[in-house]
Amino acid sequence: MSLASREEEVVDRVPKQLLIAGQWRDASEGEKLSIEDPSTGESLTEVADGTPEDARKALTAAHEAQEEWAATPPNTRSEILQKAFEMLGERADDLALLMTLEMGKTLAESKGEITYASEFLRWYAGEALRIDGYYKVAGNGSGRVLVMRQPIGPCLMITPWNFPTAMGTRKIGPAIAAGCTMVVKPARQTPLSMLALAEILAECGLPDGVLNVLTSSSSGGTMGPLIEDPRARKLSFTGSTEVGRSLIEQSAGQVLKLSMELGGNAPFLIFEDADIDAAVEGAMIAKMRNVGEACTSANRFHVADAVAGEFAEKLAERMGAMKVGRGTEDGVEVGPLIDDDQRAKVAELVDDATGKGATALVGGKRVDGAGYFYEPTVLSDVSDDANLLKEEIFGPVAPVKGFASEDEAVAAANDTEFGLVSYVYTNDLKRALRVCENLETGMIGLNQGLVSNAGAPFGGVKQSGVGREGGKEGIAEYLETKYVAVNL
Ligand code: NAP
Repeated sequence: MSLASREEEVVDRVPKQLLIAGQWRDASEGEKLSIEDPSTGESLTEVADGTPEDARKALTAAHEAQEEWAATPPNTRSEILQKAFEMLGERADDLALLMTLEMGKTLAESKGEITYASEFLRWYAGEALRIDGYYKVAGNGSGRVLVMRQPIGPCLMITPWNFPTAMGTRKIGPAIAAGCTMVVKPARQTPLSMLALAEILAECGLPDGVLNVLTSSSSGGTMGPLIEDPRARKLSFTGSTEVGRSLIEQSAGQVLKLSMELGGNAPFLIFEDADIDAAVEGAMIAKMRNVGEACTSANRFHVADAVAGEFAEKLAERMGAMKVGRGTEDGVEVGPLIDDDQRAKVAELVDDATGKGATALVGGKRVDGAGYFYEPTVLSDVSDDANLLKEEIFGPVAPVKGFASEDEAVAAANDTEFGLVSYVYTNDLKRALRVCENLETGMIGLNQGLVSNAGAPFGGVKQSGVGREGGKEGIAEYLETKYVAVNL
């Protein structure tokens, strides 16, 4: 089968409707939302464009399914997750192609995301069996303390376009394990991966109404009323800090339990005692994974003056050699950005930096032709007032800046309202631990450019978020703690 017909087949096979109470349905007003291939700018297909009325029905379905689902044996919840983990593996090639078509990243990266996404299902298949409480003698010796953990109730979930499957399973996995029902709203640009995931979970035996999926062009219009609906008990959001702030405000009315995975501005620190080739290797992952469109993407490279030139040249050589193109083509390592607005933002940040004295060692421009491609770019001599040191770039651009001392490096790293992740390269153990203690981020890659791991707590401090996803911390976000004071 030719690639073009396989692409069509993979897209055709995905449900394009809303999933409400186990039924695939058209939007109540019959409207459709067009999905684009960012490597061509052409429409791939259309999905249902859900309305506020559809959103209300989705929450009703989640609310009605909640009691029975909470009472389902943990073994059953675990088995559904384990089956879904296996099915994602079996269908990885098709799911990866679908993701590449709607999101742009290369097929190899999409396949990597399907593996990463499936690991949350495996991890939470295990965690479903480990929800516990405790019973103890009270301090005065006469009473007893009984603590139980119960599902929080119907959850609202809003996911971004950059990791369309993994940002879903990172929420859906622990919610299923905990016994919560949910309404999920995927990003407008990439709903197909979520619809495919929902279909798989249904095939694996997830009961009707536990997972409801609402695709819509009006995120605020559909989710806003649900956030204010007392039947919802939790909001889990992954996206920009700007939208996150507004959702936190909206959630105040119902005092919703919140998980907020927001933006980043990750510093990547390289000390003079580091292995520079290893740092370049790590930088390639931290910067170029997902075309730089990751909240964990290294946003700025702070490098000891003695090795800054060597690092920047080696990084420029590697990034300059990367093949840019449609993610489905052989050998391509850099796909398009998600849309023209995102590309314009990247171009503006680079132009601002070069206008303030930075030099583009490689790249620095849009790629002509169809699609939203931007050249892999390394900038040196970046001035302190360049906007890209403060803002999330979300593109394949690496600004390199020198530092004179460890204190200066740490101060520069922490000089941001964000605090998601940082990266540290050094071969000095004492320095490594000292710097890790002083960095104001929720996660640190120590001599490695990738931190994501289903079994570890992912999340940020400062304005990068509230709560953790993954690890044993991730399921706690979907459980309430109930204490019973026992009088014997
Ligand atoms: P975004 O604009 O904040 O959108 C994220 C999601 O929120 C989308 O589903 C979007 O729907 C929805 N949304 C937007 N406005 C809304 C509103 N008023 N009410 C309810 N929902 C609303 O972010 P993005 O551009 O898709 O994603 C990139 C951002 O996500 C970056 O800042 C990145 O750092 C962050 N991110 C963080 C993490 C993490 O774990 N910390 C992981 C991945 C990404 P529409 O698509 O319809 O606009």
